[in-house]
Amino acid sequence: MNIRLRLTLWYTAILFIILLIFSVSLYVALESTLFVSLDTHLQQEAAQVIGGLEFIGRESDDKYDDDEVAAALTVSGLRLRYVPEEGVLWRIFDRNGQVLVDPGYFKDAIFRNDALPTDYARLEYATLADNVPVKVYTVPFVIEGRGAGIVQIAESYHHIQQVQQLLVFLLAIGIPFTILATTAGGWFLATHALQPIDRITSAARQISASDLNRRLNMNLPNDEIGRLATTFDDMLARLEAGFDQQKRFIADASHEMRTPLTILKGEVDVTLNRPRTAATYRETLELVDETTNQLIALVEELFLLARADNQQLPLQLTRFNLAELISRAASRLVAQAEKRNVALHIDIPPALPIVADADKLTRLVLNLVSNAIKYTRPGDDVTVSVAAEGRFATLTIADTGPGIPAEHLAHLFDRFYRVDKARSRSASVTDTNSSGAGLGLSIVKRLVDLHNGRIDVASEVGQGTTFVVWLPLQPPADDTG
Ligand code: ADP
Repeated sequence: MNIRLRLTLWYTAILFIILLIFSVSLYVALESTLFVSLDTHLQQEAAQVIGGLEFIGRESDDKYDDDEVAAALTVSGLRLRYVPEEGVLWRIFDRNGQVLVDPGYFKDAIFRNDALPTDYARLEYATLADNVPVKVYTVPFVIEGRGAGIVQIAESYHHIQQVQQLLVFLLAIGIPFTILATTAGGWFLATHALQPIDRITSAARQISASDLNRRLNMNLPNDEIGRLATTFDDMLARLEAGFDQQKRFIADASHEMRTPLTILKGEVDVTLNRPRTAATYRETLELVDETTNQLIALVEELFLLARADNQQLPLQLTRFNLAELISRAASRLVAQAEKRNVALHIDIPPALPIVADADKLTRLVLNLVSNAIKYTRPGDDVTVSVAAEGRFATLTIADTGPGIPAEHLAHLFDRFYRVDKARSRSASVTDTNSSGAGLGLSIVKRLVDLHNGRIDVASEVGQGTTFVVWLPLQPPADDTG
């Protein structure tokens, strides 16, 4: 069942229940109001009749010749000075239930309870001979200490029944009509409100991986559906950026591989095209060895980044001395520093306990320190220092090298980004495991991110470059598991 139909059905069902409750309440309220006013009228009439009664001697010839009712009363030794309203039926009994005056209104009337109440007033329903439904008020009375009796007053409630029937008739016609009209309205509104969703669906269906540059561009108001369309467009933009990044990554990676492979192929071809001396073969093999190392380093870097992208690079957390780790990693680069005539200073405290992934931090230190050695001039200084700062360890690698022009700083951690391509590759030294393809710093950034740390770079051309890494001494709770 589609949403439109479901919405309309719910809407109709709720409306039906509301109308039903409303109608029943209206019916009950109207009925009780009408009957209350009928009862009040009966009571008023009874009071008037009782007020108008007067006991007189049977012999009295004080007659109301002009009034039939008064004449009947006088015969019974009673005088009634009040003539009840038209449509009001009445009769009078003595206190024993014997009829005193009866103008004959109640002939053949059917009462549910025939016994007359002598000491309390009673309201009841009865039916007259010609099937007229009446409400009857029976009330005992006492007058001037001279006499007592019971007055019975009745009035037809046929008009109330007519009003009730009319109401039922109107509701029986009005409710289905209202429901029909509002269901149609509900269906129209639901269709109208959901129409943009259909448009989004069909537009989304037409977008495939090959045309991620397309957008819905619905131009809808900023409501739930409008925001859905915008969110969808934003998601497409992110997907497109992700796909582009992947494509660029593959293109860059292939390009980086092609260069050393071309060198290998060229060297081997040249060497093989005629017989060579053993020394030449050795020279070629050494080049092959160096280039292969470079390729292995590149593949290893790519693999590491791919695993990081696929969340397959979990942290292996242990508690260890960060100072010792840095000192050991840096000392692996002493030979390289000496070869380039760069002074490597290591300034670390005796102990700095940390909970982190030791292998990944070794890799991070090696990348940053070997970069500092690679990209400085002979005679420059490289200083590696570490300190505890609050909940963080700060690792600083500062060099006095040529520095990095400001426009490159923002891209430094991008994949395959090199400030000076030729220099990167030639400076790459095989024993640092770096391919020189511009992946070293992006790997460093990934490792810092994995540790929930931060890395900053500051550089001034001609003055030197400083990298500062903040590493939490304790990993966040959810990373320890
Ligand atoms: P690569 O593998 O080419 O060294 P990196 O990602 O490690 O790539 O570094 C990116 C670029 O940043 C390098 O090409 C280099 O030009 C520059 N760079 C990195 N560290 C330094 C530094 N300490 N001083 C000057 N330039 C640096």
